[in-house]
Amino acid sequence: MSGSLYLALVHHPVRARDGAIVTTSVTNLDVHDLGRLARTYDARACFIVTPIAAQRALVGEILAHWRDTSSARRIPDRKEALSVVRTCASIEEAKVAVAEESGGAPRTLATAAREIDGARVLGFDAARAELARSTTLLLFGTGHGLADDVLLAADALLPPIRSGGYNHLSVRTAAAITLDRLVGEREP
Ligand code: SAM
Repeated sequence: MSGSLYLALVHHPVRARDGAIVTTSVTNLDVHDLGRLARTYDARACFIVTPIAAQRALVGEILAHWRDTSSARRIPDRKEALSVVRTCASIEEAKVAVAEESGGAPRTLATAAREIDGARVLGFDAARAELARSTTLLLFGTGHGLADDVLLAADALLPPIRSGGYNHLSVRTAAAITLDRLVGEREP
């Protein structure tokens, strides 16, 4: 993969069960799992996006713990995974950070468990090809999913991961499946 891949775990704007736009809380499990996924699939960074400064500070404490304490020495693999995790206040801020270090604005690729009228859907195979030649910021939501505005503003939306009628994957699981489809090794 010659393109650069960045992940964003978005805590605002996301939907609540009733469709209202809310801000969800960061969970420690998501920070660890998305960091491990990002490192495993060679993403340049995983942005934990939240407008709440106290939540960004909390993530900062988690990252410092795994960077500077005995935990880092005890589990160096986890230190390496969390080394690619960063915080920012918004998707726009993540886009600016990516542009500053990669020399150009990233293409944004969003994900959702549902179809969105008006979104530009890009199949996994086409997205895989595009990732190989562009800088991409892959957006994952929390709560009940990314706000429609985010999905419609993205350069493209991946199809929902589906296998039948039941569709309630965690973001950690959905991110793993998505990343493997986009950049995972293929059998020869
Ligand atoms: N119902 C929500 C939606 O429509 O996105 C799923 C919320 S899920 C707890 C949080 C995030 O996981 C979603 O914003 C999306 O990034 C990802 N996700 C969950 N299920 C998915 C699926 N079937 N296909 C693609 N992404 C999914």
